[in-house]
Amino acid sequence: LNKINHLEDLLNQLQIVELSHTLEEHIPIWPTHSKFLHTLWHSYWHGDVAIDHQLLINEHNGTHIDAPAHFIKEGESHIWINEMPLRTFWGPCAVIDLSFLGKLGVVTEEHIRQWEQKHGDIKKDDIVLLYFGWSKLWRKRPEDYEFTHDWPGVGASAAEYLVEKGVKMVGVDTLAIDVFGSTENPAHYALLGNKISIIENLNNLDQMPERGYFAALPLLIKEGSASPVRAIAFVEK
Ligand SMILES: [Zn+2]
Repeated sequence: LNKINHLEDLLNQLQIVELSHTLEEHIPIWPTHSKFLHTLWHSYWHGDVAIDHQLLINEHNGTHIDAPAHFIKEGESHIWINEMPLRTFWGPCAVIDLSFLGKLGVVTEEHIRQWEQKHGDIKKDDIVLLYFGWSKLWRKRPEDYEFTHDWPGVGASAAEYLVEKGVKMVGVDTLAIDVFGSTENPAHYALLGNKISIIENLNNLDQMPERGYFAALPLLIKEGSASPVRAIAFVEK
């Protein structure tokens, strides 16, 4: 039990940052995706012994992880969420502040290299989290216009650079990793095509130091293209 006690001890010495949005009705969604619905089913207020709700949920509602098969139709990267190796869902993370880019900004390789010069290299198996400041615009419908339009995204050179680095996962605080209106979706294809999953709609990245330890587990959905997750990070106090 030594290792488990040691791990518990270490975890207790770290702070936890909540990186998820609350799942509730009217949260912003991709225009063509089905909505998140949460409906009372049984209730002790209406004669039942207990209470429970019916969930109707899209795989891409709220803070979620995209599996490679979301965009990759065939070949060795055609991997569903239930087929991704568990260890890809946690690990050391690097948080890159790109909030200066603003509306429709595109991340380039150069932006990431500049961050590395200041904060050290991104290593193989790191999880890279990109903060655009977009989570601050998260509003429930019908006040979701700003969040669901003109968001910044990851360009081809940055996505390819992260693939070269061999990162485990790339996360953003926008609805999608590619810039609003992108028809080519270079980041989705480069990352998912190399079995690197994507986290979208992250929250509170502005509360993170440059480094931390990230974890977000998807539900075990058979042939899932994605899954909602509870994303957190452990950081030094
Ligand atoms: Zn998605």
